[in-house]
Amino acid sequence: LLFVEGLTKAYGDHVVLDNISTEVKRGEVIAIIGPSGCGKSTFLRSLNQLEKITSGCILFEGVDITGSSVDINNIRRKIGMVFQQFNLFPHMTIKENIMFAPVKLKEMTREEASKKAEELLKRVGLSDKADAYPDMLSGGQKQRIAIARTLAMNPDLILFDEPTSALDPEMVGEVLALMNELAQEGMTMIVVTHEMGFAREVANRVMFIDEKHIKEEGTPEEIFENPKSPRLKEFLSKVL
Ligand code: ATP
Ligand code: MG
Repeated sequence: LLFVEGLTKAYGDHVVLDNISTEVKRGEVIAIIGPSGCGKSTFLRSLNQLEKITSGCILFEGVDITGSSVDINNIRRKIGMVFQQFNLFPHMTIKENIMFAPVKLKEMTREEASKKAEELLKRVGLSDKADAYPDMLSGGQKQRIAIARTLAMNPDLILFDEPTSALDPEMVGEVLALMNELAQEGMTMIVVTHEMGFAREVANRVMFIDEKHIKEEGTPEEIFENPKSPRLKEFLSKVL
């Protein structure tokens, strides 16, 4: 689904990611872990072209999406993103938030988008909030809506950047449960997370980013039971 080849990203002289290569297959769930500031968000943002990469290439469904002739809207249609801070449109109702992208990008008529929004609200258990505004929702509810909004576009890949980090502890579970359901249904997901339980139980593969590289990657078992690099051992001793 996705090939990353020699991705390098620098802000000015400051190289954040240096020559990263990896591959993501359809249906894989990848957890990205690593210390603060190591470039996890930069990596995700590069994958859907929110950041322009300095060099390297990213092939998504066989197309190099870093080229200047690529239609950015086309990429954003197929690669969804869920942020720590939800990023819902505050002046729109919940249902309008979910309908916005498919209507705007002419994927669906208003009627189709409305029907889809109702289905998605039901699926995330928030049908009664259709006409509420984001302000009126708890953090966990907002994040479930942000996920529903992403699903409205029928993406082939969803990127999650610390989706539960801004939530009160009692709301983390409902969001992780929804993400787990998506994973079981075969959605391809790349998740930056500090939830080691999720990384261990839901991910097929864990990537440890550190010192500008994917320092270590493997199955949850390999990463958590048999970490090889001293940096990963040290990181895990702090977060587990
Ligand atoms: P955290 O766990 O705290 O979210 P992160 O791993 O997501 O950290 P990034 O946000 O990707 O890290 O940042 C990586 C590095 O790039 C940091 O040193 C940061 O200061 C720098 N950086 C990020 N965005 C920019 C920007 N727009 N301009 C300049 N430097 C940036
Ligand atoms: Mg980050």
